[in-house]
Amino acid sequence: MPNALEGRTDKFELFLIKPSHYDEDGYVIQWVRSTMPSNSLAAVNGLACGASKRQILGPDTTINVTAIDETNTRVRPKDIIRRFRKNGNFGFVGLVGVQSNEFPRALDLAQKFLDAGIQVIIGGFHVSGCLAMLEEMPADLRVAQQKGITFFAGEIEEHFDEVIKDAAVRELKPIYDHMAELPGIGTVSAPPFLEKKFVERTVGNVTSFDAGRGCPFQCSFCTIINVQGRKSRYRSPDSVEEIIRSNYKQGVNRFFITDDNFARNKDWEAIYDRLIKLREIDGLDLGFMIQVDTQCHKINNFIEKSARAGVTRVFIGLENINPDNLIAAKKRQNKLTEYRKMLLAWKDVGLMTFAGYILGLSNDTPQSIRRDIKIIQDELPIDALEFFILTPLPGSEDHQVLDKKGVAMDKDMNLYELEHVVTDHPKMSRQEWQQAYHDAWNDFYTPQHLETILRRAFVSGIKLRRLMIVLLWFSGAVPVERVHPLQAGLFRRKIRTERRPGMPIEPVWVFYPKYLGEIVSKSIAFARRWRQLDLMIRRIEQDHNAGRYTDAAMQPVEDDHMEDMELYTQTQSARTAVTRERRVAGL
Ligand code: SF4
Repeated sequence: MPNALEGRTDKFELFLIKPSHYDEDGYVIQWVRSTMPSNSLAAVNGLACGASKRQILGPDTTINVTAIDETNTRVRPKDIIRRFRKNGNFGFVGLVGVQSNEFPRALDLAQKFLDAGIQVIIGGFHVSGCLAMLEEMPADLRVAQQKGITFFAGEIEEHFDEVIKDAAVRELKPIYDHMAELPGIGTVSAPPFLEKKFVERTVGNVTSFDAGRGCPFQCSFCTIINVQGRKSRYRSPDSVEEIIRSNYKQGVNRFFITDDNFARNKDWEAIYDRLIKLREIDGLDLGFMIQVDTQCHKINNFIEKSARAGVTRVFIGLENINPDNLIAAKKRQNKLTEYRKMLLAWKDVGLMTFAGYILGLSNDTPQSIRRDIKIIQDELPIDALEFFILTPLPGSEDHQVLDKKGVAMDKDMNLYELEHVVTDHPKMSRQEWQQAYHDAWNDFYTPQHLETILRRAFVSGIKLRRLMIVLLWFSGAVPVERVHPLQAGLFRRKIRTERRPGMPIEPVWVFYPKYLGEIVSKSIAFARRWRQLDLMIRRIEQDHNAGRYTDAAMQPVEDDHMEDMELYTQTQSARTAVTRERRVAGL
């Protein structure tokens, strides 16, 4: 321990902020209740609380930890600066889990703290991804470093104590680069944790944790493999139980397991057996959301045990149904013909399925996207489909290849939230591509298809009123709130004076009438959608034949038919696809 700390009786302020990002009008995207809990914030907060408990700055120094998720809580820099002033700026602000689209907002917040003499550290996928994949630090990172911001790259589990001690003597290094040594997470002494008062700011009181990190696959658009590695690392079942029990004790019993692919967690069965014991023997009321790949149904017992373990919602990386596109994106593990089989297997145990679909892979055109959406509607029994624009995220192979080739990419990182086109496409203009994204939401969530989804759900035993909320959220977020469902929340907050630097602060008489008008028109739009879904459900409930509903997507897949589906969507020869794959990989 450096001498500077000896005998000091102090409060070390540790503010952990997960920043949001700006909407197209320059206002911070923020909700009274957000939907997705931040795993990075929970992970770093758990470690910070652990460090505080262990009194790593000595018995006379309290480490005061405050966690803020900006998507559901307003960050008030003036109040934070006041708190630091009381202690002579003893402590630091950590901007955690910062993704590329959040980096500009993180920099704007950081500037206010730096101006007040407070130390700032930024960590997360943007910093780690850029350092992992680019030969040179990009301009935005260089600017941040010149301002005096410290970067943390990699995973902080084994290094947080060092960072706190360096900050305590104001000797933070410009960069802590631990990308090369990713830690084991089997038995981390301070696992992810957020107090209930923070969890309550999400819809449904959901918290999150990762049961594993890393993924063996090689999707070219993915940042996870280059930041968390391709070698998977896992928490032990004991550690998972500890996370669940500590949350249960404070009344939090719904969890989002954030592993990109829980089916590839080699300990999935041991973890599920523990969850089954907690539910069936110890009587804990638990619910989980997980993410899996399209081959998960081939793992013996995985789906059955998911249901018994308390999983209620499953996110599946469908990504795209055009086989050429999948090969070009190195998503070989996705075989179209297996999709329906897999979705029906989830339906058999009555679980809700969500699938992600990427728009803008190299073979996509506005016409092919429309065709593919129709195929999905007719052939695949998905409950909620979400669209993303293929985005060369810093940290992905796609970004690295484009960067090396000098291909133009938008410089504003705020746009890298998978809803904006940021580079050119071989077959669509940027405008066509952007329009195709907006059309996709409307084309999929038509009133007819919403009713079909509900009818399929009815025969699968899924609770229609629960699905109705999901459908309201997924069908309305983009057309009504103008944000992706994963970024949407309950009741949009806008702070007049917190606008992106460079955009004018609107006068009171302009801002408030406009804001009020938006609230009214959005409320009417959502009320209409609610009424429409409500009427559909009543119709289904009163229909005596509803229990016998079936359509092509509900038919078990036979091998011949699987081949038909493949032929139907295959638009290019395998030879062309392999050539394209090589081109994408830059070989
Ligand atoms: S399966 Fe998911 S985590 Fe794995 S490489 Fe593909 S996108 Fe990344």
